[in-house]
Amino acid sequence: MKKIVFQLSWLCVFVSCATSPTGRQQLVLLSSGQMSKMGVNSFNALKKTQRVSRNTRQVAYVKCISNHLLVGLSEKPRNWEVQVFVDKSPNAFALPGNKIGVHTGLIDLVKNQSQLAAVIGHEIGHVKANHGNERASQGLVAQVGMTAADLALGRDSVSDQIILGALGLGAQFGVLLPFSRKHEQEADRLGVRYMAKSGFDPMQAAELWKLMKRKSGSGPPEILSTHPSPESRIKDLKKIGQRHLKEFQAVRVKPECDRERLK
Ligand SMILES: [Zn+2]
Repeated sequence: MKKIVFQLSWLCVFVSCATSPTGRQQLVLLSSGQMSKMGVNSFNALKKTQRVSRNTRQVAYVKCISNHLLVGLSEKPRNWEVQVFVDKSPNAFALPGNKIGVHTGLIDLVKNQSQLAAVIGHEIGHVKANHGNERASQGLVAQVGMTAADLALGRDSVSDQIILGALGLGAQFGVLLPFSRKHEQEADRLGVRYMAKSGFDPMQAAELWKLMKRKSGSGPPEILSTHPSPESRIKDLKKIGQRHLKEFQAVRVKPECDRERLK
């Protein structure tokens, strides 16, 4: 991994680099079209293999929260697909290609709309910050063993097959591989920012992870295996939440998604 970091600065001379929403320089070798295609295909595969919830109250609750977050991000909710999957593990994910999936186990766990917004916002943060592309690009460099020159000259010929093979993702792209600590911290920062902008209480992000931690007492939930949750994370989230409190308070009309849940 160190080698990749070392190469990044001069790789950027030859190939595409981008800047993340928090100002970090990223190596992104794949086009957004390629990423979207992989995200959409993976999401469609998940819909075929996992049970999709037909509980209208649950779906309305999740859509209400997702839509408020998306509007806060100046995204059009109609351009995003949101699905609730019947799965006891408290998990959620977002994929390139504008896809959001939430497990019923997460809905059961959260105490209020802001806690669910914390997880969905975090997952949208991974997508908006292009983490999947960055991870796939690092995978290409590290696993396929391509040199910078190969990437510069031949990246257009790299097929999706090789990319998926290098990633080892298959149908579950973006769902089961753990993100790095750097990506987690960035998604946390973005998620809390999105929450506050959309009128969700940013202090609830730390509360959500406290719940997750408690839940992990009886065997770690899946989201903790893909999202490492050290003690310091809760502390960090409290600090980030406090930084965004004014922004949250300034939102005059707050979301009322909890009403959907109680209907
Ligand atoms: Zn994450």
